Amino acid sequence: MPNNAKVGSFSRRDFVVAASAAGVGGIASHLLTKQLGHAGEERPTAEAPKGGADQTPSRTQGQAPPQGGGAPLEPPNAESPDAQMPQATKKLGWAIVGLGKLALEEVLPAFGLAKHSKLVALVSGHPDKAKKVAEAHGLDAKNLYGYDNYDTLKDNPAVDIIYIILPNSMHAEYTIRGFEAGKHVLCEKPMAPSIEECQRMIDAGKAAGKKLMIAYRLHYEPFNKKVIEMCSKKELGALRSFSAMNVQTTKAPNIRLSSKLAGGPLGDIGIYCINAARYVAGEEPIEVMGMAHQPADDPNFREVPAGYAFTMRFPSGLLAHCDCSFQGERSSRYRVNCADGYIDLESAFPYFGQELRVSRKDGATKLQIEPKNHFTEEMDHFSQAVMSGKESDTPGEEGLADMRVIKAIEESARTGALVKVAK
Ligand code: NAD
Repeated sequence: MPNNAKVGSFSRRDFVVAASAAGVGGIASHLLTKQLGHAGEERPTAEAPKGGADQTPSRTQGQAPPQGGGAPLEPPNAESPDAQMPQATKKLGWAIVGLGKLALEEVLPAFGLAKHSKLVALVSGHPDKAKKVAEAHGLDAKNLYGYDNYDTLKDNPAVDIIYIILPNSMHAEYTIRGFEAGKHVLCEKPMAPSIEECQRMIDAGKAAGKKLMIAYRLHYEPFNKKVIEMCSKKELGALRSFSAMNVQTTKAPNIRLSSKLAGGPLGDIGIYCINAARYVAGEEPIEVMGMAHQPADDPNFREVPAGYAFTMRFPSGLLAHCDCSFQGERSSRYRVNCADGYIDLESAFPYFGQELRVSRKDGATKLQIEPKNHFTEEMDHFSQAVMSGKESDTPGEEGLADMRVIKAIEESARTGALVKVAK
């Protein structure tokens, strides 16, 4: 039989490729064992030739069945009934809007690992940069758009989902225009600078019959997911208090320092503490107390505060204390104090490096969890939500809920009063 002859739908060539992709030992020894009819037991065989990449037995390696008995040495050139065949998965097409740091360094590379999402278009105000990025990602120039012809994405059927990675002040406009172009939208956090804009974004999605997801990547990565699971099951008893901090150094020029672009530490990094308190507690805060720090002697903070400290009170009585600042060495963590112990998530909010420890009376355990690329998980989650027609785990309402808390903290910091969170 020729080396690549087809038997059923599986050829010898397919077998060799699949075997080397999976590790020859797995598939090859499985088929051989099946052929011998001794599941779980290996019959001694002639030593295979050494050093060759392809060690699949061939006719020239003494194939003819020995006279007088013995099973054939060559495996059948046919599809094994339980071979692990690669599944062809449907991928939705994504357009990335805004080619800044997050898009270039995290989101675009994350498509390389995605199972359900592929990059098909770019939108940028910088045609030269967009052209270079397109070349690097194998995109045709016809799939490049500017902000002026952004709305013509409606004529591009390859684009299913638009991912908005623009300054916060532009999120609402580009999300709503994305819906008007007939696409689903993933929008970066913070959703928008006001409650009214968040509501308009949600309404626009509903009117268009399209989905809106807010890019809360930590809902899709395994360490934070594990904490959510442990807290919802009350594995360490009732939650008693929560504390979180998120600190980094941010210097001009940066979109985060401009009030016109809706920057500021609460929406940029404090939002991680707010969101974590909400997903760990599994309830919505009812009132907040906040204080802002805006150093008069640092020109970086002439438009937005450098940091905030705030406390949120939840209906169960849980108090969450949080601290965010643009003025310190990177530091990011949270602790959940429970009746029977506490949970620490170190490096809770960055793109990688999470460490999870659980402490009980009898000692502490560091949990071993396989990390995943946050952006791949997040994008594939949304692609699957769109394909299945289900809501994502972080729809527009999730962004709106955080914005209600942010507005209450800002008001409390301004007035010095305890402020109720809007319903
Ligand atoms: P960036 O400054 O690096 O990029 C902003 C992009 O917007 C650039 O491509 C810039 O050219 C474009 N832009 C268009 N109009 C602009 C204008 N008028 N002024 C300035 N830039 C303009 O910012 P980034 O760090 O990529 O952040 C972009 C968004 O992503 C923000 O909403 C931010 O909160 C969010 N973000 C989220 C995460 C996360 O982990 N989910 C991390 C970083 C940033």
